Amino acid sequence: MARFFTQLALLDPSVPVRCPCQYPHGCVCDGPERVLRAYCYKVAMPPMTPAHREECLAWIENVEGYTRAEYQEASDQDLARGVLHSMVDYARDKGLL
Ligand SMILES: [Zn+2]
Repeated sequence: MARFFTQLALLDPSVPVRCPCQYPHGCVCDGPERVLRAYCYKVAMPPMTPAHREECLAWIENVEGYTRAEYQEASDQDLARGVLHSMVDYARDKGLL
């Protein structure tokens, strides 16, 4: 996912040292995923810029079963949650999970 989310990746240094994914056996999240999880779990983060939100919406509208309109007005937290959920669905569709 890292190649798609170039804007979100720039926020990676803003995420606290401990990734909020809390996987018991260690974090394997790439930069953008750590950023999305930080928004999702309401870790203190700067508000997403229009460029960050656009990247999220562009991703969402390309995943089957998700529409841009559904997330256009969503909070940063809900938008991030939508992207994370759609990533799981996307990976399932491609047989990666
Ligand atoms: Zn993680």
